[in-house]
Amino acid sequence: MAAIAPDLPRRNAAVSLLLVLVAAAPAAAQSSRLFAMNIARPYVETETAFVRGTPSVPGNLEIPENLRPTVVSMLRLSSTFRRQCSRIAGAADLAVVVQRGSLPATAKEGAITHIARRDDGRLEADVLIDSLGDPVLLLAHEFEHIVEQLDGVDLAAMASRAATGVVERDSGGQFETERAAAAGRRVAQEVRGGQRRGR
Ligand SMILES: [Zn+2]
Repeated sequence: MAAIAPDLPRRNAAVSLLLVLVAAAPAAAQSSRLFAMNIARPYVETETAFVRGTPSVPGNLEIPENLRPTVVSMLRLSSTFRRQCSRIAGAADLAVVVQRGSLPATAKEGAITHIARRDDGRLEADVLIDSLGDPVLLLAHEFEHIVEQLDGVDLAAMASRAATGVVERDSGGQFETERAAAAGRRVAQEVRGGQRRGR
């Protein structure tokens, strides 16, 4: 889910865009519908460094130590997650900070990402993963929202049209995308499959 509040101040710097992206974890995970991954551009880039050497955590991704083994395992087992991390690692003006904590009691979601685009073009993404949620599904879901912004997806414009795979929540200014939900499920499936194969 994404909330757009362009006039919201963020720290001391001017911000031209603020998005809040939230994964509705349990409901989305249990959905049996298969969403097409054609919301914007499909993945076409190579996995660059991740194909060749040992997959490593992107240098512009800050994660708590207790989530690092999860991320390393996801990198090993999920090609979709490797592509997401490759996109993140390759975005020179992007900084991602992941934290694990508690979302508000009223929240129906398992994760939330604030994305701020500063006037100088830098993109900052703050991801909060609920302590009780599935970090694999939620990280992949939120990372896809970050990749959506790297792709330049205009969530507000897409939500204003029918059948784009982007919906705006009743509360206004908050969006969810089928693309992110599908990416979360896909990564979770790849990780489970890899674990079953004993990798
Ligand atoms: Zn979402």
